[in-house]
Amino acid sequence: MTNKQKKTLWRIIAAALLLVWAMFGPTLWLPAGLPFVSVGRTAADGTAAFALALWVRFLIPYLVIGWDVLWRAVRNIAHGQVFDENFLMAIATVGALWIGEYAEAVFVMLFYQVGELFQSYAVGKSRQSIAELMEIRPDYANVERDGAVEQVDPDEVEVGETILIKAGERVPLDGVVLEGRSDLDTAALTGESLPREVQSGDDVISGCVNLTGLLKVRVTRAFEESTVSKILDLVENAGSKKAKAENFITKFARYYTPAVVFAAVALAVLPPLIGAMTWSESLHRALIFLVISCPCALVISVPLSFFGGIGGASKAGVLVKGGAYLEVLARTQIVVFDKTGTLTKGVFNVTAIHPETCGEDRLLELAALAESWSQHPIARSLREAYGKDIDSGRVSEVEERSGRGVRAVVDGTEIFVGNDKLMDDIGVSWHPCHRVGTTVHVASEGEYLGHIVISDEVKEDAAQAVADLKTLGVAKTVMLTGDAKAVGEAVAAQLGLDEVHTQLLPADKVERVEALLEQKTGKGCLAFVGDGINDAPVLSRADIGIAMGGLGSDAAIEAADVVLMDDKPSKIAVAIRIAKKTLVIVRQNIVFALGVKALVLVLGALGEANMWEAVFADVGVSVIAILNAMRAMKGAGQP
Ligand code: ADP
Ligand code: MG
Repeated sequence: MTNKQKKTLWRIIAAALLLVWAMFGPTLWLPAGLPFVSVGRTAADGTAAFALALWVRFLIPYLVIGWDVLWRAVRNIAHGQVFDENFLMAIATVGALWIGEYAEAVFVMLFYQVGELFQSYAVGKSRQSIAELMEIRPDYANVERDGAVEQVDPDEVEVGETILIKAGERVPLDGVVLEGRSDLDTAALTGESLPREVQSGDDVISGCVNLTGLLKVRVTRAFEESTVSKILDLVENAGSKKAKAENFITKFARYYTPAVVFAAVALAVLPPLIGAMTWSESLHRALIFLVISCPCALVISVPLSFFGGIGGASKAGVLVKGGAYLEVLARTQIVVFDKTGTLTKGVFNVTAIHPETCGEDRLLELAALAESWSQHPIARSLREAYGKDIDSGRVSEVEERSGRGVRAVVDGTEIFVGNDKLMDDIGVSWHPCHRVGTTVHVASEGEYLGHIVISDEVKEDAAQAVADLKTLGVAKTVMLTGDAKAVGEAVAAQLGLDEVHTQLLPADKVERVEALLEQKTGKGCLAFVGDGINDAPVLSRADIGIAMGGLGSDAAIEAADVVLMDDKPSKIAVAIRIAKKTLVIVRQNIVFALGVKALVLVLGALGEANMWEAVFADVGVSVIAILNAMRAMKGAGQP
């Protein structure tokens, strides 16, 4: 509990005790000469002094518990914001005091404060999980400069500098391990509880905790571009993408409060005017109506449910950029996957090297050099297979042709590395390969040099991911790939996908997704899942873009609406499940709160509900709705 919450709690206890005293307390011990507080003497007194004394006894607990509400109501009126919760509570309770319902006035305030306390506690709880994520922010970096180690702010370190990360420290910047071996705790980023082992040559991402060994790391990205900064940005902005339901509530409150205030005025004024009621009866009824009308339950619990859903998802390693995307996710009907890096690991093994003229080593060297600047998984795998250090001075005029391959000048000779399409583009005749796998052709200035066959593995949880989506009621799963027909179809069959389209250029993928968007029915939505390498246009074209943002691939975090921190496709089903659960909760809360409210409001207007029922309707509904909202957060990750 925060200090403020503790203070409120003490005020509630104090006011409750004072109220008990006011209602039942003896007066004997009070100085007899003080008429204000000597209520108990004889009720038969019936004097003005007696009434005043009673009034003061209740006024004390009332002010203890309600002074801040009254103060806020007055201040808001001064600012021209008349119709808010504070205003409703203030006029309802002041009115109650006025017509002699002393105990009720104090009770209404007391319960209102209990509700407020509960709400602030609940909001704090769900903020906490987001805050846990926030703790990934590193405080410093140990950077090696001129032979000495200095401790500096992470944003002062430049790309290419060497940093030291001791056991127990947080990785401050993204980089590549130069020396050392250690286990990294990635739980804060991915929700993955098993530590990840790294050694020299491996990438490390900021935000992880170095558990065991000393690591020497060469920084590859500046702090503003590091994984940690991107995630923090994303989480901080998560609230700005409001769900439709949230916007509805804000608008609703804007019209609702003045509407009920006018209704209450009408209830107070009209019946006595037509002679149907006395002024005090009608006033009483109007005040009850006001107490009931407070829309807190709705106003609080709907955003809290979305917040809970986002928090629950982030615990499971899925970052959702706002409540709006939970709404879309819950309606997912078609899921379209990219292949490389999304369903497959994107780590290719070289399975064959078939040169035409030069030696195998030479062919691989040319390919690796030409690919030296590419971030494509194929490029990385070729460099890995080559194994030796690449002298980037030998490479110039690099040009990526997405969905096809690369062109570069290596040692002064123009080299093309890529697929059939690229060879056709440059008019080089190529040989198909009998080996199963992705064929990477290499050509130089119109001459075919040969090809390298590489093969990728599907991710361990890919088949499970597809199966889970089916159980969740996703109507269609589709794979789009730029890879060869044989490879794409083999993967699709292995994973049980409904549809597969191969040999697509990035622009073809957009076209395919547009065609698939036509196939949706009703309110169904299409999700595209990609690794962000040349599929950013599709990510934004889909109803919802899901990116593999975590380890390895250069974060497509920006283009996507949802980011899977650990690159596991099975987390899509987890996210959809959380989204569905959150929306069920939101709907329950809206129906429940509005239903109870409407019922008690009608009863109140008809004079069938008293102040106590009004208080229960308000506080009770809020508490139940808040408890329900907190379910969105808990255990949402489990199937
Ligand atoms: P996917 O749709 O499976 O993610 P991409 O669209 O990234 O595949 O690439 C499609 C195809 O283009 C690859 O299978 C490969 O043949 C070729 N290609 C793309 N980039 C490169 C590269 N840097 N080096 C070699 N081939 C490439
Ligand atoms: Mg791709």
